[in-house]
Amino acid sequence: MRNLIPILAIAAAMTSCSSVKTQKQVDNSNPTKYLNSITAADLKTHLYIVANDSMEGRETGSEGQKKAGRYLISQYTKNGISFPKVAESFYQKVPAAFLNRRKGDNLNDSENIWAFIEGSEKPEEVVVVSAHYDHVGVKNGDVYNGADDDGSGTVALLEIAEAFAKAKKDGHGPKRSILFFHATGEEHGLLGSSYYSENPLFPFENTVTDINIDMIGRRDAAHEASNNYVYLIGADRLSSDLDSICTAVNDKYTKIDLDYKFNDKNDPNHFYERSDHYNFAKHGIPSVFLFNGVHADYHRKTDTVDKIEFDALTKRTQLAFSIAWEVANRENRPVVDKK
Ligand SMILES: [Zn+2]
Repeated sequence: MRNLIPILAIAAAMTSCSSVKTQKQVDNSNPTKYLNSITAADLKTHLYIVANDSMEGRETGSEGQKKAGRYLISQYTKNGISFPKVAESFYQKVPAAFLNRRKGDNLNDSENIWAFIEGSEKPEEVVVVSAHYDHVGVKNGDVYNGADDDGSGTVALLEIAEAFAKAKKDGHGPKRSILFFHATGEEHGLLGSSYYSENPLFPFENTVTDINIDMIGRRDAAHEASNNYVYLIGADRLSSDLDSICTAVNDKYTKIDLDYKFNDKNDPNHFYERSDHYNFAKHGIPSVFLFNGVHADYHRKTDTVDKIEFDALTKRTQLAFSIAWEVANRENRPVVDKK
């Protein structure tokens, strides 16, 4: 979460029409097995690595961030997940010139990282699941580990991708394609996702939804009694479909308290504008942001892994997975019915 700074289808369908009619449609109505493959133990293993001191706080363009990026790629590769076919690698280079153009920072070249699972029926329609993997680096010799911000979302993406890959191996791959998008430069002003929005890999008209995860491993002061909640932000801003999908899958599978407090347009925190989904929403793409709220360790060196509540992280990751599963597999993409 960034600081509030003062500021293909038809043709493909037609050609495969006859076979589609005779073939039995794959039934993807029950994701439970794959949802349950998302575990606290796996999230913990990943997060102890991603938020380790050796990643040096993952400052945009730093060697520590690149090291964390290599770990993410190693996990995709291990699970048989590749980068999008239309890309040359797992990386979208974000040039220093772009990163420094607005504020005159002195950041090095950095990279967004993407991984891709192709849809079985509507491969040209893309669901994005995003989280930023940069954080604020080292200050006065202290490593800012960013375990919650946004190590939590980063490892959530790894687990969600693995669950989809498992489903695909069993013949239950997603009907739409899924792009796992690890944004860089978020802490400097949503720069990686901004770069993507100016240089998208897939046309925005075929980008169905963005599910963005930024800080889901802790609880805030308003929820001292229970961590069984998540703030849901933005789901209904562009699409009432997306909002009903979120509540329906939560009712069915995860049963977390969905807190809409920060979804209020008049909320002074303006969280809707403060993470990477905003660069998708700006282009009319239905977007939802999962968030645990801020806490005393927000953007401090004390945002460390030992403070992560892995039961909450697991449930929220499972919710994000359920939303992605539903959006990827349902008959119709979420309709944009609001301005
Ligand atoms: Zn942040």
